[in-house]
Amino acid sequence: MYILYLDESGVQEVGAGTSHFVLLGIAVRTDQWKTLDSEIERTKRPFDLEGIEIHAGWMARRYSEQESIPGFDALDRPARRVATQTAINRRAGVLGVGGNPKKIKAYRVESKKIRPYVHLTRSERIDCLRAVLTELSRWPDVRIFADAISKSDYAPGRYTPYELAFEQIVSRFQAFLAKHGILGLIVSDNNATAAPRLTKLSRKFHSDGTLYRDIHNIVETPFFVDSALTSLIQMADLGAYALRRLIENGEDALWDIVEPRAERFGNASVGVRHYTGKRACSCRICTAHGRQ
Ligand SMILES: [Zn+2]
Repeated sequence: MYILYLDESGVQEVGAGTSHFVLLGIAVRTDQWKTLDSEIERTKRPFDLEGIEIHAGWMARRYSEQESIPGFDALDRPARRVATQTAINRRAGVLGVGGNPKKIKAYRVESKKIRPYVHLTRSERIDCLRAVLTELSRWPDVRIFADAISKSDYAPGRYTPYELAFEQIVSRFQAFLAKHGILGLIVSDNNATAAPRLTKLSRKFHSDGTLYRDIHNIVETPFFVDSALTSLIQMADLGAYALRRLIENGEDALWDIVEPRAERFGNASVGVRHYTGKRACSCRICTAHGRQ
């Protein structure tokens, strides 16, 4: 049996935030998940992040507070924590004097999100992301299924970008399971707005099939978990981030590591799609998918 861990990167609202919405699933054999899960934890240990959530977006960004500290990289980790926290307090103080409650609140959220990682330099944080992806890619039975939707090419229809991507992933996961004559289930990050709709949509797929195929090998509707406590959901978050950065910015450093785990059929990478509507696209994903 396989478990498909599902998470997203980017926002699905058209015209807001990112140019793409990416949904990505990592399929793991149930008899391997425990070892894989503990290997990922072990990989986080040299970065003093064991038991701490890996959140790609917050880890990969530049921290201006760290960059404002002379000789930051040469400090040891406890000293970096103290120095960054001092810089955070100073900035919060400055914002407080300005008195814009929205800005103060946003900064409070931001500083809380980066707090678990402030003992690491940016290059160490990226090294950590690369290390956990490298561990994941070492497992030959792991498979990646993903859909990246170009929001400017998306025409509003029966499904939102999230649902459109979900239908694609369910269809391809089903095809994979049928090919191997096994069962699978889906575990998703608990997203308060998406969860009820995904459950409803899954029920519909079970009774009517997706646009592409009947669903015989996926059991139940998705189970929802807390990403902070489930390391393979964090890996799906990281994979989705890597794919979005590749498509939006041409950054291939992270995607290169996991791309070999994308489901293939012959020479075509059938597990990952870049949706561009009727617009032709010759990007690396579309070429590998056989669209070009
Ligand atoms: Zn493309």
